[in-house]
Amino acid sequence: MLQYLKSSGRLLLAPPNGWRVVLSADVLSQFYGFRQVSSRMPEAGGTLLGKLLVEDGSGVVEYLTLPGKGDRQSRFGFFRSRRHQREGLRYWQANDETGVYLGLWHTHPEATPKPSSVDLADWRRAVSEDVYHGKGIIFVIVGTDSIGFWHGGANQQLCHLGHLKHQNQEVGGV
Ligand SMILES: [Zn+2]
Repeated sequence: MLQYLKSSGRLLLAPPNGWRVVLSADVLSQFYGFRQVSSRMPEAGGTLLGKLLVEDGSGVVEYLTLPGKGDRQSRFGFFRSRRHQREGLRYWQANDETGVYLGLWHTHPEATPKPSSVDLADWRRAVSEDVYHGKGIIFVIVGTDSIGFWHGGANQQLCHLGHLKHQNQEVGGV
């Protein structure tokens, strides 16, 4: 349900509802940079933005909103401010109304990340309240050794798509 494409450094996500979502190598290397590898690094997070391909509706994640002004960040918590929605709107306008919201990401200070009860409640809220144009929402948790991926949507069970070990960034060209 996830496939790392070594030649291009991209990651393909394949939820059971048939949707396909690709994450660019650049997005994966940004996740790498937010790993909470030192005890001083707080949780980080934001949204996944990108395009839906006209041919088949596949999602392509190209842009992350990043932690900053208005967010509350601590070692074991990340509160996403409304600034991320405003940035998503600007991305939509700047891309001739083709730049869409595809998901949410945040970090955890654990090797193989798994959602907390707070995360699951946030994801349920996102599925029922957020406006999305793809076939669901992608949820990402960036751990210190690997990145976990989940998919949810209206009338769809939350589904774990798998974990990807952080790639050697020299191979990724960053
Ligand atoms: Zn979390």
